Amino acid sequence: MNIRKTAEKVLYRLPEGLAARVFEWIKGVPAVRASIEKEMDEMMAHLRDSVKPYKGKVPEFSQMPDSGLEKESVLDIMRDLQEKENEKWRDGYVSGAVYHGDPEHIDFLNRVYAVHSQSNPLHADIWPSASKYEAEIVSMTADMLGAGRAEDEICGVVSSGGTESILLAMKTYRDQARQEKKNRRPELVVPVTAHAAFDKAARYFGIKIIHVPVKSDFTADAGAMKKACNRNTIAMAGSAPSFPHGVIDPIADLSEIAREKGIGFHTDACLGGFVLPWAEALGYGIAPFDFRLPGVTSMSADTHKYGYAAKGTSVVLYRGRHLRRYQYFTITDWPGGLYFSPTFAGSRPGALSAQCWAAMVKMGREGYMEATRQILETADKIKSGIREIPELSIYGDPLWVIAFGSETLNIYQVMEQMGKKGWALNGLHKPACVHIAVTLRHTGQGVAERFVADLKEAVAYVRAHPEEQGETAPVYGMAATIPFRGVVSDMLERYMDLLYSVE
Ligand SMILES: *Cc1c(COP(=O)(O)O)cnc(C)c1O
Repeated sequence: MNIRKTAEKVLYRLPEGLAARVFEWIKGVPAVRASIEKEMDEMMAHLRDSVKPYKGKVPEFSQMPDSGLEKESVLDIMRDLQEKENEKWRDGYVSGAVYHGDPEHIDFLNRVYAVHSQSNPLHADIWPSASKYEAEIVSMTADMLGAGRAEDEICGVVSSGGTESILLAMKTYRDQARQEKKNRRPELVVPVTAHAAFDKAARYFGIKIIHVPVKSDFTADAGAMKKACNRNTIAMAGSAPSFPHGVIDPIADLSEIAREKGIGFHTDACLGGFVLPWAEALGYGIAPFDFRLPGVTSMSADTHKYGYAAKGTSVVLYRGRHLRRYQYFTITDWPGGLYFSPTFAGSRPGALSAQCWAAMVKMGREGYMEATRQILETADKIKSGIREIPELSIYGDPLWVIAFGSETLNIYQVMEQMGKKGWALNGLHKPACVHIAVTLRHTGQGVAERFVADLKEAVAYVRAHPEEQGETAPVYGMAATIPFRGVVSDMLERYMDLLYSVE
């Protein structure tokens, strides 16, 4: 039995609740269970080739070699792999992922890393340089995000990435509400477009998360979010801009609602923290989203995205040291000594903070401004190009993360055709669309033009071959139905197993 075909034939026609029960029942039949397993195995076998392209082609070690390899041969193996992978992103075929990527910039960051490769901020006594770098990263980021015009002191910490920044902020609000309001049933209100990291935080920390539908322009619905709050709500969040559609939520309205209710408000500026301030300075009309708004009590901004640092750093900021304290961890009765750490990790890579600091001071305000100017101009070219294609429409009114879908074509098929031309775009759903996050990689000569030309060809191909389903659409189709959501979740877990498999 093919579960996809069965899904299309039977379950899609049933009401979702009934379909879920029917599917649970069908799944219980051993023969069906076995055939689902079989189909999943087949899908995984198919994926294996793309996930493990080096299988059998380069030396593999499922156990340590008895005697160590020569340094040069280790480096040779690794250089070979990296050369193959550079090709994917270097010429601007990838959405997001590598945000700067000039060889000269990368070389500089690598040299900085090498200078501090042994540094660990956990031991501030041994590496006070790490604390200096982190304090200044936080201060520079806060200054960029309106700290100077905030009434309170804006402070923060350096984390390992956007997800950790968001997890930390949500844990902070949970612990604050527990301590100050004796709230044992914390709830969080977010627009559906908020990053998955908020869901991760909710699951990890036992917070109930309420996802509020967005408006037709894909921005948060402030009125509906207000209604979704109750006495257990600890915080609300909005994005500047959102990961899926690159649009900025009405942060002023949302943060004011939170302020009136006396709860936290987090602006997720992971994506926009290092772009929007410069866009504003360049004269793009950007509604306020940062600490200039009195209701904004925390923010996340990713240095490892448009801050142009290597992967592994982000900044989480708070309005006031009092709030930041709820993030900290201390233990005074551990036999290992007096122990404290500001973030989730214990030991941390001080070299990553060093290279983050170096990226920021090397770029400077003018560097970020110029990078932002180029990105926004390139995004304008791409948006105009997409608007010339009658089958496609841009969702919402984005600046440089551009989502587009189609009323008439299977947009995932368009994405797959773009994939055949080398493009790695992001597939999104609810509604089905695709996005490209424009980075400095796309500002090069002819990249935007190539994107538009390839997109036109991809659309023409899909228009001419409407019967083709592709790989992505059926999986997203399954994820959209309650009965199959569990199957898709299973598949994603198997995919992660596959990533860690050496077989
Ligand atoms: C990237 C991103 C995150 C998460 O960041 P990671 O660095 O991938 O953990 C959170 N929010 C938004 C809006 C993002 O774009």
